Amino acid sequence: EEHLVIMDETAIRRALTRIAHEIVEKNKGIDDCIIVGIRTRGIYLANRVAERIGEIEGRPVPVRELDITHYRDDRLDAAATRTEVSAALGELEGVPFTTKDKIIILFDDVLYTGRTIRAAMDALMDCGRPRSIQLAVLVDRGHRELPIRPDFIGKNVPTSKQEQIQVALTEIDTLDQVTLINQ
Ligand code: 5GP
Ligand code: MG
Repeated sequence: EEHLVIMDETAIRRALTRIAHEIVEKNKGIDDCIIVGIRTRGIYLANRVAERIGEIEGRPVPVRELDITHYRDDRLDAAATRTEVSAALGELEGVPFTTKDKIIILFDDVLYTGRTIRAAMDALMDCGRPRSIQLAVLVDRGHRELPIRPDFIGKNVPTSKQEQIQVALTEIDTLDQVTLINQ
């Protein structure tokens, strides 16, 4: 097994700061923006970027979590669990969640085939008609199977299908690091 560090703590910090600025610039502020982080590591990235946007804009941007595990198109019971996922996204402090007229910025750690993002968009569409959905990822490793491309990219890392990206974040790991693993 071969390990190659492709982003260290500093590189991750700079990439997230850049993405925060890009989000603000593209949307001319953060009016009606909601950042939706995909479980597990996408949520931590979403929170970090939201914190930076708060510093840039002087006010907070809302963050939501989305667990897409039961929504993937390659699961047989996807339809049965769809309502569960909507419910999971659907309520915060008793207030029903709506994506209606919102600019949704989806955040995930690694983009690969695109199937997770497709499923996430499905879940979001079930909660109303967003004005737009944008996609931010820390790493784009290629091999898309669907017509999906990110709007905000930490780093493009061309990989073979045998290779894997390991994303470590201090919220749940011992350090901030992105590694390319070749089995
Ligand atoms: P996709 O659905 O695009 O095929 O895969 C993306 C999802 O699977 C993301 O939620 C991501 O966390 C996970 N994933 C796919 N490939 C990798 C990888 O090489 N490394 C990591 N850490 N996650 C991956
Ligand atoms: Mg994931």
